[in-house]
Amino acid sequence: PKTLGILGGGQLAQMLALAAIPLGVRVVALEPDPQAGARLCAKHLQAPYTDPAGLARLAECDAVTLEFENVPVEALEYLQGRVPVRPGAGLLAHSKHRAREKEGLRAAGVGTADWVTIEVESDLTGALERVSGAGILKTSELGYDGKGQRRVSSEAELTAAWDDLGRVPCVLEGLVPFVREVSLGVARTSGGALAFGPLVENVHRDGILRTSVYLGADQQAAAQAREMARRVAEAWGLEGLMTLEFFELASGELLVNEVAPRVHNSGHLTQDGGGLSQFGAQVRAVLGLPLADWTPLHPTAMVNWVGAEDEAAQPDWAAIDALPGTHIHLYHKAWRSGRKLGHVNLTAPDAETLRERLAQLERLIP
Ligand code: ATP
Ligand code: MG
Ligand code: MG
Repeated sequence: PKTLGILGGGQLAQMLALAAIPLGVRVVALEPDPQAGARLCAKHLQAPYTDPAGLARLAECDAVTLEFENVPVEALEYLQGRVPVRPGAGLLAHSKHRAREKEGLRAAGVGTADWVTIEVESDLTGALERVSGAGILKTSELGYDGKGQRRVSSEAELTAAWDDLGRVPCVLEGLVPFVREVSLGVARTSGGALAFGPLVENVHRDGILRTSVYLGADQQAAAQAREMARRVAEAWGLEGLMTLEFFELASGELLVNEVAPRVHNSGHLTQDGGGLSQFGAQVRAVLGLPLADWTPLHPTAMVNWVGAEDEAAQPDWAAIDALPGTHIHLYHKAWRSGRKLGHVNLTAPDAETLRERLAQLERLIP
């Protein structure tokens, strides 16, 4: 049997491991947190990402992948040359740094929001004008779930926001007047074979993904997204799987918001839509197993369970179970306000039924 190493042992590693097992693949996860969910279904090495013994064990695997982008450089340097790391260091250098990411996207021939790099105080002068007067200041590194971001619409707000973010390197992005947000995964083997996930529509709340929906319509947008994903995958030399987040403009044009070098929260619905899942696709792409598109066979949606401010405000699990077509996925994480604790997938025979039941499901998850 093949062995897959994963840097990280959170919910994505947990779900990768659950998809790997029926493919005859064993999983080894390196994760510092003793409570992380992947410990339940993978060989769990509880140690820092730079631990020599942990890295040596990963280097014995057939390939190594990751479940988050901020892997320490030392870990990648150790693994490089000892075991295939997919995606590799070159692609990660793009996706973990917002300014390099945008430069790399433009170089690949896809559109992005306008942006200005803010590294020293003088970069603030005139920056807002260059993005048409309103924007979002984002730290270049380490941001997720909307953390490390401030909306600004005046020079004074911009200066205050940069102070507030600790004067670290940032990008100021122009505010995109999108009509909706969509995402799409792409996988590429080391031999260059490509496969794609579904085009999924996403709704965020307070910067955190709330719902994702796949209805199977949107053929034109899906074709455009696939072509953009192909360009980026080829230009960045993708091996493994990555996910692109897009803004759709009123004209129908797509801009890339950001790229995650891995499976993505918006792709969780592929676990229960009847086709391959994004997790199986990442395992297959990374290990060079047969690969195909992972489009659901049925209309499918996902609702995230994000920790509410009040710990007692729990989802109504009994009512969720009673709703036809639901599948509960929990991450074995302690409650914290704003933390992703699990998700519920929902499938239905047709788009209209899906919409109706999704509205019901949303009311059951605070
Ligand atoms: P993730 O958890 O997806 O990694 P993140 O912290 O990296 O999130 P972004 O994806 O950059 O954050 O932004 C979070 C959300 O904020 C976006 O999905 C979108 O709704 C909104 N947003 C971000 N940038 C812009 C922009 N330039 N114009 C308009 N809305 C934006
Ligand atoms: Mg992000
Ligand atoms: Mg995002």
